[in-house]
Amino acid sequence: MATLFTRIIQGEIPAEKVYEDDHVVAFRDINPQAPVHVLIVPRQEIAGLASLPDQGDHRYLLNAAKVIAESLGISESGYRLVINQGVDGGQTVDHLHVHLLGGRRLDWPPG
Ligand code: AMP
Repeated sequence: MATLFTRIIQGEIPAEKVYEDDHVVAFRDINPQAPVHVLIVPRQEIAGLASLPDQGDHRYLLNAAKVIAESLGISESGYRLVINQGVDGGQTVDHLHVHLLGGRRLDWPPG
């Protein structure tokens, strides 16, 4: 059974994609927590950080984040990358993803 994010990557479920390459796809979060809130997802179905393989598409997430932040105009103002892992981390979709948040001043520490 394909994950929700695989179904978005394959176009079965609509989403506003902002970036894609051979390894990752990025699209706007359906429930944005900041003016810019993008999810960057490896094409490979990796459940999360706790089951990260040694090799794979996750290795391209950070470089994609840098490129996407530049393309969305938040590189200079700043932004935050978040990966939620497991129940305590608040993970709700079991397909590894990086939240790219920006466009406003973000609080620290997170709640
Ligand atoms: P997490 O809680 O870290 O697992 O993040 C999952 C994220 O997926 C949440 O921020 C949701 O708002 C987002 N999300 C869930 N369904 C969709 C969807 N169909 N399109 C875009 N984002 C989604």
